[in-house]
Amino acid sequence: MKTVYVDNAATTAMCPEAIDAMTECMNGAYGNPSSLHHAGQEAASIIVKAREDIAKCLGAEPNEIYFTSGGTEADNWAIRNSARLGAAKNKNHIITTAFEHHAVLHTLKKLEKEGFEVTYLDVSEDGYVTAEQVEKAIKDETCLVTIMYANNEIGTIQPIKEIGAVCKAKGVLFHTDAVQAVGHVAIDVKEQNIDMLSLSAHKFHGPKGTGAFYCRKGISLVGLMQGGAQERNRRPGTENTPAIAGMAAAMKKACAEIDKNAEYVSALRDKIIDSIVEAVPRTRVNGGRSPRLPGNVSFCFEGIEGESLLLYLDLKGICGSSGSACTSGSLDPSHVLLALGLPHEIAHGSLRISLCEYNTEEEADYIIEELPKVVKRLRDMSPVWERIMKEENE
Ligand SMILES: *Cc1c(COP(=O)(O)O)cnc(C)c1O
Repeated sequence: MKTVYVDNAATTAMCPEAIDAMTECMNGAYGNPSSLHHAGQEAASIIVKAREDIAKCLGAEPNEIYFTSGGTEADNWAIRNSARLGAAKNKNHIITTAFEHHAVLHTLKKLEKEGFEVTYLDVSEDGYVTAEQVEKAIKDETCLVTIMYANNEIGTIQPIKEIGAVCKAKGVLFHTDAVQAVGHVAIDVKEQNIDMLSLSAHKFHGPKGTGAFYCRKGISLVGLMQGGAQERNRRPGTENTPAIAGMAAAMKKACAEIDKNAEYVSALRDKIIDSIVEAVPRTRVNGGRSPRLPGNVSFCFEGIEGESLLLYLDLKGICGSSGSACTSGSLDPSHVLLALGLPHEIAHGSLRISLCEYNTEEEADYIIEELPKVVKRLRDMSPVWERIMKEENE
């Protein structure tokens, strides 16, 4: 059976450029980048180059980029550091949204226990927040606004530049978790008024367990851990040279091809959404159609369970997701779908298909052919669907 991999928001396959960069690095540049001899300096120069490449893709300066173990660490770092800066000035209020990734939400929950006050902005039915909402929520005690660039479950893209402008005018730090956006939509941190940004390599065909934190120069930054002097004294531990090289190669490629990929992938996305909405009654498309990540398709099918849907699709070779990989395994419906105001029973029947430029037209057609059959089969067995149909016929 062939595999149709459409779970690219959970993680992506690595691109050949990233694999080559890593292999080359593992074969040759095994020195410790902190060593003074030429073997160490060769590794150090790979890191210098990677930092330049990544900075360039974001419109940042190389010395504003810090390598991390991924998006989660970058999110924790941005929030913790901002909280520290806020606390020093007696500012203990943070603004975020109700549908952030758990790396943000759980860090904020912890800060609430430590005495911080957090405002969770409501998101609209179609999955957006506005700069006006942010402006209204800012008070004298606000030290940070953290709002994701694009949502990992429903793909909606937030008005980052406008939110950044509000924060700038009010003198409040602005962080964005851009893990889903980097490599998929064009970003310029200066132009978009972004003070801090998190990214993760494995979401754009780079290696897992590596990411970066952009922190605008001028913001005082201390590390989460203590140790050696790596990353300009802020992130101790021997650098993962191969992963950093792989991330830079993947990012360079993704950024060079961003428009071409977005055009191709969003056409597949729209074809799947339009066809399924037409073929399957009582389908809800989660999240507004635009602005939306090129690869994100998110449905709720009334009367069925997302988990069973995934298992049946898997039997057909289709790898999708019921929401985010991080919440699967728990039976609670996703906090993202609940934040849109969906009732529990509808939120349970969710399916996320996340595409990338490796997906083909044939794969999209296969999904369009198989998905309605699977939904029908599950509905035929579902007492909830039976009730819905009964009510409809009354
Ligand atoms: C995947 C993801 C993360 C976590 O990144 P890791 O590198 O897996 O730690 C954080 N935020 C968003 C929006 C994500 O999609």
